[in-house]
Amino acid sequence: MTRTINDIVIAGAGQAGARAAEALRARGFKGSITMIGDEPHPPYERPQLSKAMLQSAGTSVAYIKRAQDWNETLDIRIETGAAAIDGDADRRVVATADGRSFAFDALLLATGTRPRRLPALEDAQIEVQYLRNIEDALRFRRHIHSRSRIVIVGGGVIGLEAACAAAKGGCDVTVIETEARLLPRAFPIAISDLVAKRHRSHGVAFVFGATVTGSSSRAVTLSNGTEIAADLVLVGIGVTPSADLAVRLGLPVADGIAVDACGRTAAPGIFCAGDVALQRSRCHGRAIRVETWANAQNQAISVAGNMIGESREYGDPPWFWTDQYDLNIQVVGDMRDADRITRGDPDSGRFSTIAMRGTELVGALSVNSAKDMAMLRRIVAADARPQRADLESPGYDLRAALKT
Ligand SMILES: Cc1cc2nc3c(=O)[nH]c(=O)nc-3n(C[C@H](O)[C@H](O)[C@H](O)COP(=O)(O)OP(=O)(O)OC[C@H]3O[C@@H](n4cnc5c(N)ncnc54)[C@H](O)[C@@H]3O)c2cc1C
Repeated sequence: MTRTINDIVIAGAGQAGARAAEALRARGFKGSITMIGDEPHPPYERPQLSKAMLQSAGTSVAYIKRAQDWNETLDIRIETGAAAIDGDADRRVVATADGRSFAFDALLLATGTRPRRLPALEDAQIEVQYLRNIEDALRFRRHIHSRSRIVIVGGGVIGLEAACAAAKGGCDVTVIETEARLLPRAFPIAISDLVAKRHRSHGVAFVFGATVTGSSSRAVTLSNGTEIAADLVLVGIGVTPSADLAVRLGLPVADGIAVDACGRTAAPGIFCAGDVALQRSRCHGRAIRVETWANAQNQAISVAGNMIGESREYGDPPWFWTDQYDLNIQVVGDMRDADRITRGDPDSGRFSTIAMRGTELVGALSVNSAKDMAMLRRIVAADARPQRADLESPGYDLRAALKT
């Protein structure tokens, strides 16, 4: 028998939680919605934390909505500063750390991820920080001034955006990366080299093939034996899913909370969206967690409808962007293990790279070519099959690919 949905609880008041709550009201859901978030803020989006908020001391946080708009306009109750730590999937109840219980007919787990910690810097004397929330961004910003010596561990997107802000602010910046190149997970080598070159031209130094193994109060020691003086170490070595509540609820958890194409977990009435959701990706050919702004928004909106009786599968290809200096780089789908076709002239600073596996266009990357990327996103989403020879032809209009 289908259960009537009167009370919805959302655990996690980040981007996915907030967009799901809005979508529920937009679809006409009239029952109660309670969003439980362990941060002391109403929901906000995180891309600003490594971009606008670090660029100038005067930039304030942009919230998704003001706290009173959630309550008064949307009639959504937000419990900030409250961690949902326990629950019972059969009795349909979650409990917060301060001892309160929240009954639900449907629950959305939108608990996101948290920074992966670097054991070598636990209990270090030197100042160490991560970059995940507003407090982290404000703290990092306080260190952005000339003569500040900043070591960044991890040459991924977040570390590099922080490096960019710090270099532009006059800091002496060194990035330590264990792999032999930057952004090894998602970017082709040519793009890694392009990004490294741009950083070097702004004075950023790199150490590849090494990690931090220890520290003193004013320096870090690397695995290759060198010591680098530092006033602050920012660690950006990836994230781990915040799935403790899901474990307490008895749900299967691997590298995230397993969901089907509609965002349903293994327990009836419990759904999941955003960074923490482990869902099959057509482009990748396996289940992955997608740690992007677009996924946190669009997957959550799609899953919200399913919580109130729709049955809509979500299959948007993963898409993200990064801004560093004058480079806007966007990636859709999966660029790894594929043949690549370049469109445009890399020397001009504007071009796109298309990834093909056999006849399938599985991903694309654009550098300062947002218009191309808008079309490539549609092509990947539509699972279109343009001919390789056409894509290689400089005059080929990408719009034609949508008709293939
Ligand atoms: C610095 C930074 C820059 C980024 N820049 C980009 C970008 O340029 N482009 C892009 O595509 N993506 C970017 N991202 C990624 C994007 O912000 C994330 O994919 C998105 O925030 C995921 O949203 P979410 O709601 O799933 O998770 P989160 O944003 O992590 O929100 C989850 C919330 O749940 C809370 N929570 C966790 N456990 C509990 C619990 N038990 N009880 C209550 N609350 C709980 C967390 O504290 C958090 O507030 C960036 C991320 C960061 C950190």
